[in-house]
Amino acid sequence: MYKLRMFINGEWKDSLNEQKSHIINPANGTIIAEAPSGNEEDASMAIDAARRAFDSGIWSDLSAFERASYLYKIADMIEENAAELSKLETENTGKPLKESEYDIADAVGCFRYYAGIVTKPSGQTYHVTDPVQAMVVREPVGVCGLIAPWNFPLLTGAWKIAPALAAGNTIVFKPAEITPVTTYRLFEIMKEVGIPDGVANLVLGGGATVGNEIAESDKVDMVSFTGSTSTGRSIMKSASGNIKNISLELGGKSPNIVFADADFETAVDYALNGIFLNAGQVCNAGSRLLLEESIHDKFIERLIEKAKKIRVGPGDHPSTEMGALVSNEHMNKVLEYIQIGLDEGAKLACGGKRMTNNGLENGYFVEPTIFVDTKPDMRIVQEEIFGPVLIVQKFKDEEEAIQLANDTPYGLAAGVFSQDGAKALRVIKKIKAGITWINAFNLAYNEAPWGGYKQSGIGRGLGTFGLDTFTEVKQININLDVKPTEWFNSVESD
Ligand code: NAD
Repeated sequence: MYKLRMFINGEWKDSLNEQKSHIINPANGTIIAEAPSGNEEDASMAIDAARRAFDSGIWSDLSAFERASYLYKIADMIEENAAELSKLETENTGKPLKESEYDIADAVGCFRYYAGIVTKPSGQTYHVTDPVQAMVVREPVGVCGLIAPWNFPLLTGAWKIAPALAAGNTIVFKPAEITPVTTYRLFEIMKEVGIPDGVANLVLGGGATVGNEIAESDKVDMVSFTGSTSTGRSIMKSASGNIKNISLELGGKSPNIVFADADFETAVDYALNGIFLNAGQVCNAGSRLLLEESIHDKFIERLIEKAKKIRVGPGDHPSTEMGALVSNEHMNKVLEYIQIGLDEGAKLACGGKRMTNNGLENGYFVEPTIFVDTKPDMRIVQEEIFGPVLIVQKFKDEEEAIQLANDTPYGLAAGVFSQDGAKALRVIKKIKAGITWINAFNLAYNEAPWGGYKQSGIGRGLGTFGLDTFTEVKQININLDVKPTEWFNSVESD
């Protein structure tokens, strides 16, 4: 069993309250680790450490090149330990090993990407009235509170930690309380590469305690949060006391639109990938499949045939294609939504049940599930289920596809499948979503901005946008003709 600790001001610590929680492997319900259940006091100590480190300039005064060299070392060490980290990620989240390996490789790429771009030219000059030379520079925001969810623990950590540190900030990181294992290892790596004390701090504990303290504290300059829309709303309120910078990556109910002229097998393949990857616990999941009327029945038939063949099982089993849901509590939430769908009158086309066969009885497995005959105002159409549950909707033409696609409070991602390039682009341009694909789904790149419209968030992570998020913009105007303006007192009194 792993014994995790918090990392505050360069030291490993238990919580001041000495409380611990057990971390569970969702594939079999066994305890894999013990972690401190930190509270507000622990968070406050970490915030103080980050504040002192930032104000001392120990990190922000380093050259971009020096900060980048730490990030490259972190990337190298994640890569060297990729096999162990992937195994841990699978043990803690339930996802298939293949997915964990992909996530860890992506985290390596993220650290290298930000190490690379932070040393490149930045800023602007602008032309104003002579004799002033004007320019814009970007500076670190200060102390950044980073709060992450459980679905991609190490990867979301990298998405926040790499750009925040690259830009010269100090950080207090809080992983989700049920999936801290790989983040703990990441902080071991950061200690090993010699990140100065206080620059990177890890606090383990609950959202209402540790998370809220980070969001509320006047000593924190920015909060970057990834998680559900309802928690995002609460963080906005908590962060309002000192008008923190905020970046919110929230939930989704993303439409995947398939026109009759799409490449049929490609669209079926991505529809499966869109909803069953990580058992649907993906913020940008294609959880609403919008099918053109004329192909609806044929498409559903093929989809069911393929969904039924998905090999569900423990993530560390080589043949597993879909793993367990992250926790018993979350599985029950997903099963409740399936019941809500049935009660609302939607038709279950396949799946719908917990799986307890062939050694899965102690894990949190749910069958790949598809609902058809849905109506736009049903809760299963409007609300994020965050599980392997696909909602199918039918449309008759382009206009109705766009109308249905935009008809939820979310706006994170969207996909369009069609071999008519002009039509696909026309439709994508009408959809209110921040991440979109044509003839693909789920693709994510460190180089491209990530985030949503509407209630899916504020701001963008990743890409150059992700670095900008962790900076303040400063204009510097330099007078090149140093003499009095004589705006006042221009006429000498007698
Ligand atoms: P969650 O909102 O329950 O928790 C996320 C994090 O916030 C956890 O660390 C939690 O402890 C913390 N938290 C909870 N309450 C808090 C509070 N009052 N103040 C401060 N922190 C608090 O989300 P989750 O269940 O861990 O993750 C699933 C959600 O995350 C889904 O809605 C999913 O769509 C979303 N998500 C979004 C993205 C994206 O990029 N847009 C990526 C991954 C996940």
